[in-house]
Amino acid sequence: MEIFGDYHIHTTASDGMASLVDQTKIAIQVGLKEIAVTDHSWHTLVSSMSHHKFATQMEAIGMMHQANDLDIKIYHGIEGNLLNRNGDMDIPDDIMPHLDVLACGFHRYLEAVCWDKNMKYLLVNGFCGKKAREKMIATNTWAYLSAMERYPIDILVHLQHRALVDIKAICEKAKEKDIYIELNEKHIKDIEPCIGDIIESGVKLIVGSDAHTKKAVGKFDNTIALIEKYNIPTDRIAGIGCEPKFKDKSNYKVEE
Ligand SMILES: [Zn+2]
Ligand SMILES: [Zn+2]
Repeated sequence: MEIFGDYHIHTTASDGMASLVDQTKIAIQVGLKEIAVTDHSWHTLVSSMSHHKFATQMEAIGMMHQANDLDIKIYHGIEGNLLNRNGDMDIPDDIMPHLDVLACGFHRYLEAVCWDKNMKYLLVNGFCGKKAREKMIATNTWAYLSAMERYPIDILVHLQHRALVDIKAICEKAKEKDIYIELNEKHIKDIEPCIGDIIESGVKLIVGSDAHTKKAVGKFDNTIALIEKYNIPTDRIAGIGCEPKFKDKSNYKVEE
């Protein structure tokens, strides 16, 4: 099975261990034709994104594309945080129009500014066992549905990793809003129990290594095993059977 794209890669702009240039070089070496750089977002604890880092990254990608021997397409994205039960995300409004790819996911390590009102959401989803987390399904599903209504999201990343959701409801809305569900190489085990519902829903899929190191770029052993085990139609998987299409965010306006 040939995979030509990797739409979830981290760099030293957040918590990745390799630079944008190094990750791109590796991607070319392993034969990828497209990548999306999706570093963590503004309210991430410790290695958060900033306007300065984002602008630097954007400029670097622009310059790499201008080099006419660059044999790869680089999408500039952000892996935004689903911050709370209201479905707020942490992408600044002035950044949104510059994004090629908006990925959205739950992460437990957020800045203190996000803690007060969201203690239960962060603590239970982030640190409790499965029984306690199952009680958050309605809350989390509401949060995702609300985010999908409000933001031009392209990809829902590593669903069912920590924050559990009603997968049928999520897939239905994702399909309506033209949002990809990610097959995340690092978290394939989390999505496997609901892969039947995902396939049945007809929602579109996309592959992402979630590489934080050079050696993880373009590595998809778990993803390929899952696709083969469940016979997932590859014509629905961006990066394998089709090219992805991400939303045009240039006219993004803040909702009043
Ligand atoms: Zn993530
Ligand atoms: Zn990630």
